[in-house]
Amino acid sequence: MRNFKRVKPLGWLALCSVLLISSAILFLFVNHTSFAGKQSSNVKGVKPVYTFKNFSSDEELSNYPGLHLHTLIEGTDTYSMAINYPFTNISTIDQPIIDWIDQQKNAFLETEEEISSQKKRFISHLNIQVETNIITKNKYNIILSAYHYVGGANGITYKQSFAIDIDNEEHIELNDIFIDPNSESFKEKLLHAIDNIIENNNEYKDTIDQNLVQDRMQDVENSMWGLTKDSFTIYFDEYEVGPGAIGAVELKIPINHLESNITNEWLETFELAEEIAERKKVEEEAKQQESFESEKDQTNVSDHENGKYIALTFDDGPHPDVTPRILDTLNEYNAKATFFMLGLQAEYYPALAAEVANQGHEVANHTYNHTDLTSLNHDQLINEIVTTNNKIEQATGKKPTLFRPPFGSYNEQVINVAEQNGLSIILWSVDSLDWKNRDLSTIYSTVTANASVGSTVLLHDIHPTTADALPEVLETLSAQGYHFVTVSELLNIQGKSGVGPF
Ligand code: ZN
Repeated sequence: MRNFKRVKPLGWLALCSVLLISSAILFLFVNHTSFAGKQSSNVKGVKPVYTFKNFSSDEELSNYPGLHLHTLIEGTDTYSMAINYPFTNISTIDQPIIDWIDQQKNAFLETEEEISSQKKRFISHLNIQVETNIITKNKYNIILSAYHYVGGANGITYKQSFAIDIDNEEHIELNDIFIDPNSESFKEKLLHAIDNIIENNNEYKDTIDQNLVQDRMQDVENSMWGLTKDSFTIYFDEYEVGPGAIGAVELKIPINHLESNITNEWLETFELAEEIAERKKVEEEAKQQESFESEKDQTNVSDHENGKYIALTFDDGPHPDVTPRILDTLNEYNAKATFFMLGLQAEYYPALAAEVANQGHEVANHTYNHTDLTSLNHDQLINEIVTTNNKIEQATGKKPTLFRPPFGSYNEQVINVAEQNGLSIILWSVDSLDWKNRDLSTIYSTVTANASVGSTVLLHDIHPTTADALPEVLETLSAQGYHFVTVSELLNIQGKSGVGPF
């Protein structure tokens, strides 16, 4: 995306006032609408741009059957957004999720409008992240976290949890799972389990205010809860039940501790879940074995004598509609490229990620959530980078050695973490502006007019128009004698090594 300027700290005064105002607005807004995720809103939706109906139905590419991932990235000179969210194409399931995203987006934009006249030297950022937990076949728990960064050392995170049932086309409610979740006996059992967890946790034992926990559990139905096949989790916001230092609190209760309160239907569901988890484990072990066996990287810098090399790079995927088309075109022109993948996309579409690597292209790290890294603290930053390396390696059997910061935004901390993880930072020399124009002829003319010997070209394999434009781009540049190599090959040819940025 755009090459934003590096972020530099504001003066303390400006910083504090910006934070105060924005926190207040956000607090009011989000509090006012909290847990309204299940109500409908009138705000115009952030709708998925793509549906997947063109994709062959006998091949389920998503790691989470029935669930697809949408990544929406926008930026101006003063803010950037990267919004990741899952969708099913079933409106009863998708709409509440989209409504919640809209609330977060609008709250962020409102704050941005308030502060944009006062701030000068940083870029606000909204990052919506997805955690996907399999409950059982076609039932998922989706935790969305909206990270609002409007200056200061840390952003503010708001979370919402959605439990969805694809077969029944509905959201799962607490009283689907538990018998009479509002009864005193259920609350008592829950509190007892929670007490147990707190007592056995050294950090929580002395910091969590159990009275606050008790109060919150009186309205358990409106609490944020999550579910996996073996645990029921209660979430508390930062500061809600303890000091800021302990952050947001997650209390994971083993599901068998609540067994006597589970409905018959869900008792069966949890049994089924065991079987599925077992099967998945076996499948994954087999896949790992396979990918290690087939791992022989034949990236040799061959004998192209004229030295006209270009590195094409594709960011933000892999995408089930667009990436396969790009792979076909690259194959046709005997071109190799580099795919800067999002860890979250690789988690959703591991088979596609593997296909990219199997065709001899380079797979590289573009963070997990497409967060503006200058908005993160050190731990958050490490998490973005390390998780992504792991997801890509799990999917492809290859460990990335290249890293591209989203929006081209980095600072000293980013350089250090990249270096510690053996990653070179890769920027670009030609921006196709494909994310902005979404127009075949503009992409074509921008790339062909600006590409020259040694160029690194920025493209995105999430926009269909990029796939549309690629054949002509390759046709023209090939005719001019260019060869298309991976970024690592290009660095090799240029004799460059180390963390960069390049
Ligand atoms: Zn990107």
